[in-house]
Amino acid sequence: MLRDASSVVVFSGAGVSAESGLATFRSGGNALWNDPEVSTYPTPRGYRAHVPRSWQWYAMRAQTAADAAPNPGHVAIAEIERRVPDFLLVTQNVDGLHHRAGSRRVVELHGNLRETRCFDCDAKSAWPAQPADPLCARCGGLLRPDVVFFEENLPADTLESARDAAERCDVFVSVGTSNLVWPARELPDVAQSAGAHVFIVNVDMTGQMPPGDRVVHLTGTAGDVLPRMVARAWPAPT
Ligand code: NAD
Ligand code: ZN
Repeated sequence: MLRDASSVVVFSGAGVSAESGLATFRSGGNALWNDPEVSTYPTPRGYRAHVPRSWQWYAMRAQTAADAAPNPGHVAIAEIERRVPDFLLVTQNVDGLHHRAGSRRVVELHGNLRETRCFDCDAKSAWPAQPADPLCARCGGLLRPDVVFFEENLPADTLESARDAAERCDVFVSVGTSNLVWPARELPDVAQSAGAHVFIVNVDMTGQMPPGDRVVHLTGTAGDVLPRMVARAWPAPT
């Protein structure tokens, strides 16, 4: 199906980066859910209330992502893009690893940690080195990571292009997402209702749409399953 598809959407979540050493949101021992102060950072009010610790925490996450390397799962997704005429990668990840693995047609639904953005004038800039208050060079406003916080809307154009692609694809591959975050979680349903075959790659199928006629569960890690999918779809010439 992958080989014959003219339009493919890959939809990824934090699980695709787990094998690169980046913690998922809901994996055990993640400080995000254990520390009550830290768990307020991903909201506009919580972030502002805890400057400078909140931006230092995000700067640290940005550094951790920059230090991580793409794994064979990211590489396989970039390979699918090179083989399929109409392709879109829709990711919930903010770590930038898909780009670094060679993916080009990417919609980052939740933004990214590469840069900061000004709360007031939206100007983007590099992470500040060490000032206590990270302030915008243009207007003096507070800097924040260029990600979508809880309580904020996704940029309408990114969500629209993700929905359009899900509606027209023949094959939809969901990888490493718990499907808990709305509105991203509606995408597999959109694709299935529009007639696509849906493949779900995850180590744990809790909360996923049940397997059926056009829904296939591939239980395993992204770094193991995705390269095998690619190798089966496009065997190397002997
Ligand atoms: P999640 O943490 O809710 O779920 C992770 C999913 O990945 C789970 O279903 C888990 O079973 C699965 N998984 C774990 N290891 C895997 C592996 N090796 N291979 C395949 N699947 C694996 O993640 P989510 O659904 O992306 O939602 C979390 C939110 O947090 C998103 O909005 C995302 O923006 C953000 N987030 C991003 C990163 C990142 O950029 N790397 C990391 C943590 C959280
Ligand atoms: Zn500004």
